[in-house]
Amino acid sequence: MIPFSVLIAISLALIALLLVESVLYLARTGWYYRLGPALHAERWQTEVSLDAARAAVRDAMPLAKLSYREDDRGFCLRRHWAAMSAWPRISLRVEPGPDGAMLAYEVRPFITMAAFVPVFVVAAASGIMLAFFTVNIAVIAGIYLVFWPLELRTFGRLARLHDALAPIGVHVCRACGYDLFRQPRGQACPECGRHAPP
Ligand SMILES: [Zn+2]
Repeated sequence: MIPFSVLIAISLALIALLLVESVLYLARTGWYYRLGPALHAERWQTEVSLDAARAAVRDAMPLAKLSYREDDRGFCLRRHWAAMSAWPRISLRVEPGPDGAMLAYEVRPFITMAAFVPVFVVAAASGIMLAFFTVNIAVIAGIYLVFWPLELRTFGRLARLHDALAPIGVHVCRACGYDLFRQPRGQACPECGRHAPP
């Protein structure tokens, strides 16, 4: 049984972390946007240099309709701060690949919210405000399990952005995100079998 005062202290520490994470999120801080395992990742091969790939992404960026910041490793994107959102972090890294620059599209979830779950579980198990903590656990689980996949679909895997990058060689399956670099357009995707529009 954990004393109530300890639970309060842990909760306050998490609230402080939540505020720090919110600031890093809103500022589109590069290291934070690339921190932790990605829940969704794709590789888009290009046939141009790092600088040319960056310039092409920069030009196409308005199509993504997301707020972005560019730094030395690539681009950090998020939805408008006021959008109904679980605050996913999108990173589009520009790095050297086998045939030219490679664009690594990765989406990561907001972290601190999940860290509240074990604290709430302990609190509920200790019988402290059982109903309140149970409801909160359900809400957080719902955000990650239901809202998160919906949110990923909202980005549409930045489809309009990678379509606009066709001139630099980007060719990604519209259905599953498989990299179809240098494969003839209009053919079925070897990964999911769907036909892309020519
Ligand atoms: Zn596919």
